[in-house]
Amino acid sequence: MILNALPIRHMIQRILVTGGAGFLGSYLCERLVEQGHDVICLDNFFTSQKTNVAHLLDCPNFELIRHDITNPVFLEVDQIYNLACPAAPGHYQYNPIKTMKTSVMGSINMLGIAKRCGARILQASTSEVYGDPEVHPQVESYRGSVNPIGIRACYDEGKRAAETLFMDYHRSNGVDVRIVRIFNTYGPRMHPFDGRVVSNFIRQALAGEDITIFGDGSQTRSFCFRDDLVNAIIAMMSHNDFIGPVNIGNPDEFTIRELAEQVIEISGSASKLIQKPLPADDPTRRRPDISLAKKELGWEPKIKLADGLRQTIDWFKSIDLSDYRPPTPNYV
Ligand code: NAD
Ligand code: UDP
Repeated sequence: MILNALPIRHMIQRILVTGGAGFLGSYLCERLVEQGHDVICLDNFFTSQKTNVAHLLDCPNFELIRHDITNPVFLEVDQIYNLACPAAPGHYQYNPIKTMKTSVMGSINMLGIAKRCGARILQASTSEVYGDPEVHPQVESYRGSVNPIGIRACYDEGKRAAETLFMDYHRSNGVDVRIVRIFNTYGPRMHPFDGRVVSNFIRQALAGEDITIFGDGSQTRSFCFRDDLVNAIIAMMSHNDFIGPVNIGNPDEFTIRELAEQVIEISGSASKLIQKPLPADDPTRRRPDISLAKKELGWEPKIKLADGLRQTIDWFKSIDLSDYRPPTPNYV
């Protein structure tokens, strides 16, 4: 598989993927390994496990390193995808100070490698930089509405600070940066116990349990399938003069209640909807304006929610939930 896909030698890049054992990172590593690149996956396994990349361990162009990006590391690479950071609210709120350190100290450490090696570095930023947005759909020029002292701030403000660091390393040190603002993404290999809406609803539907709608379910999200997302970030890394920030997401917007209804229908579940309290600072509406991604990357998502859910539900049916554990208790 790998040999047939090998590009000519000078096209092969040495690529570091931080958070490479996670949901998005492991699929990105898989894609880059298939393209023949030399891939270094670096992860502290806070929200992931080695099994996500077990199928890559025998590939000669893949290496796995257990490392926490809040500590410096010395590597020689051509490209860095900086994905390391817990993404689900329950995960990033588990140790909020560590979440902030991961975005800030982790970004400084990775930008340091990029500066020393002259590597191109991509930051996985987030729609959360817009907070609970007053502008709809969200355009990149919107500066956002984040509660800086709320329970989501460790993530939102951490990612905002990371964007600042990326732009300052770019302006002050000429580092070749890329920033993508990722909107809610789902798909096979997402952590089944991450507490996020897609994984909760699918697990509950398959087990015939009540589906937990937080609030009245009228809040919206726009869900992007994993494969579409990874296509976009590879395109962004390959672009020679567009640094972003750019929104990457699926502009099809659904209420949380509509999502629950689709999951029930596709999985053929008899689960009922129940309401639970809405968490603090939960954004009311979220939908990306992807005009910039279309124009600069020629990218738009291809997978409709129903098709993506079908693939994700099939994956949930194929796994053994007892293989997955909650976040590492000694995460400090
Ligand atoms: P994930 O939790 O599955 O992956 C994150 C990975 O980073 C995990 O493998 C985790 O163990 C690792 N990690 C966390 N802290 C680390 C540290 N200090 N050092 C080294 N590794 C560390 O989440 P994901 O959904 O794959 O998200 C990947 C990236 O994309 C994150 O930066 C996230 O903020 C961003 N993002 C994701 C979404 C989404 O909907 N999935 C939306 C917006 C942004
Ligand atoms: N949500 C829900 N039930 C759940 C989990 C989440 O209704 O079991 C809601 C949550 O309150 C939010 C939306 O679904 O309005 C998306 O939540 P998620 O944690 O997936 O991601 P967010 O976009 O809020 O970071």
